[in-house]
Parts: sequence; C-alpha cells; structure tokens
Amino acid sequence: MNTATALDFNVESIRAEFPILQEKVHGKPLVYLDNANTSQKPRSVVEAIDHYYRAMNSNVHRGNHFLSQQATSALEASRRAVQAFINAEEEREIIFVRGTTEAINLVASSYGDFAVNAGDEILISAMEHHSNIVPWQLLCARKNAVLKVIPVNDAGELDMEAFANLLSERTRILAITHISNTLGTINPVKEMIAKAHEYNVPVLIDGAQSVPHERVDVQDLDADFYVFSGHKLFAPTGIGVLYGKAEWLEKMPPYHGGGAMISSVTFEKTTYNELPFKFEAGTPHIEGIIGLGAAIDYVQRVGLDNIAEYEQELLAYGTQALMGLRGASSTTPAVRIIGTAAQKASVISFMVQDARGADIHPHDVGTLLDNDGIAIRTGHHCTQPLMKRFGVPATCRASFAFYNTTAEIDALVRGLAKVQKIFAV
Ligand SMILES: *Cc1c(COP(=O)(O)O)cnc(C)c1O
Repeated sequence: MNTATALDFNVESIRAEFPILQEKVHGKPLVYLDNANTSQKPRSVVEAIDHYYRAMNSNVHRGNHFLSQQATSALEASRRAVQAFINAEEEREIIFVRGTTEAINLVASSYGDFAVNAGDEILISAMEHHSNIVPWQLLCARKNAVLKVIPVNDAGELDMEAFANLLSERTRILAITHISNTLGTINPVKEMIAKAHEYNVPVLIDGAQSVPHERVDVQDLDADFYVFSGHKLFAPTGIGVLYGKAEWLEKMPPYHGGGAMISSVTFEKTTYNELPFKFEAGTPHIEGIIGLGAAIDYVQRVGLDNIAEYEQELLAYGTQALMGLRGASSTTPAVRIIGTAAQKASVISFMVQDARGADIHPHDVGTLLDNDGIAIRTGHHCTQPLMKRFGVPATCRASFAFYNTTAEIDALVRGLAKVQKIFAV
C-alpha cells in the first residue's frame, strides 16, 4: 500500500528513476512535455526487460523446460498485475495486444462480425483519436452500418443531450475515449456507460490517456471493453491491453488465427483455445508484457492518487503560466487554449500569437522550442475531425507526466516568449 501524501511527493527522487530525463538535447537539459504521445520509462522497466533477455529468454506456453516455465510465469504474473491494476474480475479477461489501436481493431472486427448488421449504428464522439474512428468506419463499410458522432461543445466537452438522443435501438456499440489526448477532457464515462446499458448497448472505452493519470476500475465503470497502450503508461511500445467482459469475449470469434489460439487443428475442423489465448495468436511480445508488469508495479508504488493530485497542480500552474503570455496587447493573453473542460487531465492544447496578434503555426513553435531542448507535440494529434471542429489546422500540445516540474513549465513559457520575439521581426 502507498501511504505517501502529495506533500511528500518528491519529484526530484522520481526524476532520478528515469535515466532519459538526465539526457541533454541540443546541449540543453531535456524538457519532455510530450507524454500524451509516449511516456518515458523508469529504470525498473528497463531493468526488467534487460533481466528477461539475460536470464529468461524463451518462448512461452509451449516448452516444459526451465526457461520456458520462467518466462511463462513472468508473463502470467504481468497479466495478474494488469487485472489488479484495472480491477478486472477475472484474469482471462485480460488480452495482450500491440496497443490501443490493435485492441479497437480487434473489437471492431470480432464483435462487429457477430453483432453488427446492415442499418445498425455505431456511436462514437467528435473527440476520438483516429484509432477509435477508422476501425469503425471499416466495419460500417463491410456491414453497411452507420457511424453516428456525439458532438463536442466549445469548451471541448461532449454534448450529453445529443448523446442521449443518438442512443437508439439500432445502436450496437458505443466507443468513446475516457480522456481526450488533444483536449484533456475527462469524459463522464461511468454515466455514459449506464445510459448505454439502458439500451443494452455495450461500451468500449479508449483508456490510452486515462491509465497513466488516474485510477481505473473497470467493474465500477461497468465497461464492456477497456483498452490501453503500454507505452503511454511508462512501459514499452508494441504492447497493450484489451480488457473485455468474459461474457462478450466468449461469444466473439477469434481475430487472428495461428499458434497458441487453438486447442486442436485438423484440416476439417479447428477448435479454439479458451480465453485469453483465443485472442492471442502467435508468439507474444514477451519482454513487452514483462515490461508492462514492471511499469504497473512502479506506478502503483508512486501511487495513482498522488500522481493525479500532483498532475492537477501542474495543469493549474501550466494553464495560468501560459495565459500570462502577452503579444499584441498587454491586457489580453497571446495564448488561446483549445479545450477548457471543467474536468481535465494534464494536457494543454494551445495556439500562440505573435506580436501582431496572428497565430504562429504550431510547427514553427515546435521546431523553435526543440532548439531549446523542449519537446512538445505539434500537429493534429490524430484527431483531424476535432481540429476541424475548432477551426485550426493543428495545435501545440504540452502534456505533463508526474515527473515533470513547474520549473519545466517555466522553461516552456520562456521558450514561447522567445518564439514570439523571433516572429516579431
Ligand atoms: C495514443 C492514443 C491512441 C493510439 O494508441 P497506440 O498506442 O498508437 O495504439 C488511441 N487513443 C488515444 C486517446 C490515444 O491517446
């Protein structure tokens, strides 16, 4: 159990656990504010992977030799760690996949194959990542189904009245993000799941941005599917999780065919393995799974409540600091924040103006900040429909993790002031 309070949340000792944060970029200390894109990895994760290759490397679930048993038990320990982390009822409800994208494709394909027919509706929202749009469009094209979209208001919150009206007897699934990677909005997913269940509509939650920032309990939410990526959770790339209620996963056909997902194969008839293996064809990303287990251990040692509390402080500090920047006028801010929801995670999308009051293109801002060792993301953040909704081609996005500091936010603001000066001439 973690007994630390936010007061003894010691960011310097946390930073010491992340070797890359000690690196220099262009001769300047790295200021890494691109955590919604991918997070950095603590030493314990790097060491778990190193240890796997030095002492355990072997294929899993197949050999009865020593190394294979070691690797298999490490892999299954990670599955139990994930189960506990999101409070899934059963171990077999945790499917290892490549990431959020693959998890959503799996559900769109497998659930879609058996549950979606012509004229049926798939409900998503206007703030979805392309990963939670395109797989559903592909499904709709295959099945002649219809994609419906919950609109977003000017603050970047979902329109709940429109949501209630869009749910219908024809809706086959609701697929929404828990936290927007672009706006930072925390959606009221528990309430939305309850509403969808009134229509017997299952719900997939894209948790890519939530698991690194707040405690998630899939049973409390009553989510039917919950998906996330390891790499945003301080774990390696190429590994992610599909949580699904066993009652759904049992009914769904396999997604990939191959080794490990079968119980017997003949040319006449193949029978499938039980959960979770039915959905885990082929040799898995063993070191990724082991690294994910180590990352979850690490995050739990820091404590998700401490993380959430500290990041809210960074969000408030960062918002205020950015709004303090001045350009054409000494009284109105030179920064416009896109996404001002009442419930927000530590993600700030913004546009910054030059001395004449014109928006500086985010790509220019990003390139100039990089010269100072400051990493932010600029672009459409894989949410082009959302960019269109807010009438911008791209935004600058600073996204904080619990190893970031107010001093780094100050460096960002100084960097932006420097960018403004360059654009003033
Ligand atoms: C990053 C992200 C994804 C895609 O995750 P991958 O790791 O690239 O598969 C999907 N949804 C959201 C909200 C994200 O932030």
